Amino acid sequence: MIDLLKAKKLIFLLVIVISSFLIITGCGRDSGADIQSAEDNSFIMNTLVQMRAHGENAEIAVEESMDRIREIEYLMSRTLEASEVSQINDNPGEFIEISEETQKVIAESLYFAELSSGKFDPSIGPIVDLWGIGTEEARVPSQAEIEEVLEFVDYNNLEIEDNRARVTKEGVKIDLGGIAKGYAADEVREIVKKHDVPSAFINIGGNVLVVGNNVDGSKWRIGIQDPRRGRGNVMAIVESKDQTIVTSGDYERYFEEDGEHYHHIFDPESGYPARTGLLSVTIITDLSLDADALSTIAYVKGLEAGMKFVEDIADVDAMFITEELDVHLSSGLTGIVEITGPDFNLIEGENFAD
Ligand code: ADP
Ligand code: MG
Repeated sequence: MIDLLKAKKLIFLLVIVISSFLIITGCGRDSGADIQSAEDNSFIMNTLVQMRAHGENAEIAVEESMDRIREIEYLMSRTLEASEVSQINDNPGEFIEISEETQKVIAESLYFAELSSGKFDPSIGPIVDLWGIGTEEARVPSQAEIEEVLEFVDYNNLEIEDNRARVTKEGVKIDLGGIAKGYAADEVREIVKKHDVPSAFINIGGNVLVVGNNVDGSKWRIGIQDPRRGRGNVMAIVESKDQTIVTSGDYERYFEEDGEHYHHIFDPESGYPARTGLLSVTIITDLSLDADALSTIAYVKGLEAGMKFVEDIADVDAMFITEELDVHLSSGLTGIVEITGPDFNLIEGENFAD
């Protein structure tokens, strides 16, 4: 069984690597000059991490970045028993000493929980466990089971003080899966900058962040995945410099049963995968942690409420794709996103402001 899983994972990785080369390299020509380049593709934080950097210290920057992402996984993963998050979850009621990093990410997750009136909820753990999406045990739970665990889903049951954090009672579980990858991408940017590397690209399972321009001096051209066709199939291109482009979609982890599609972004109110008529939401902004939380929030809120929410935050833009394959852009993205998928319709001239 394990071998089969491993084999599956490898094939999966290979497919992603091949297809992402098409997306990314197809878009930037090497200038041919003797610029040092480095690249890595690894499976970390339960997802594929792809990084490329160009410049004198490219190699060390990539190496350190990958180590840093592993460190963050080691601190914040819910599946690693020794992680700080597991320590908190396994000791209800007890304040656990945690690192500054975990402290920061929990504090940010609580900030976004408040900001979204609980649409983003870092205490979603029991619901994630119950559905088991992305595991061999994925199944549709009964309404009674959902109600039973929903009682524990409330971010007010997480407390932080100084360098300690706790869950207030048995059954409450922190899950930072909707925000930690964004934090990791931001940390990679710090490492890249520390080494004065002028040009870098990182993709942590859909959390893309770019530093500077591509190696040939043109903007990075980031492919937005076709949410129906899986990795490597692009339906839009965004040109970007020094930004993060983060997508939450119903295709990242899911299973199907009786013709229904059950995915891994939950509405904390119902305990069901959010069903708002969306296939994906992409957020474009400066900080990847913000974009990670905001893409989850916008997805759970749906098009109208989600777009309004995003438009109210300065320097944050969004692209929503609906089940009808309509593409809706926030005001700052007009002319920035190029739709390349022939089945997608760009809806223009909308106003979500009021
Ligand atoms: P992806 O993992 O595809 O990047 P997201 O950033 O949207 O997608 O994160 C989904 C993950 O976030 C889930 O696997 C789960 O761990 C967690 N999660 C799911 N629903 C919520 C929610 N409403 N609030 C906070 N975290 C969530
Ligand atoms: Mg997210």
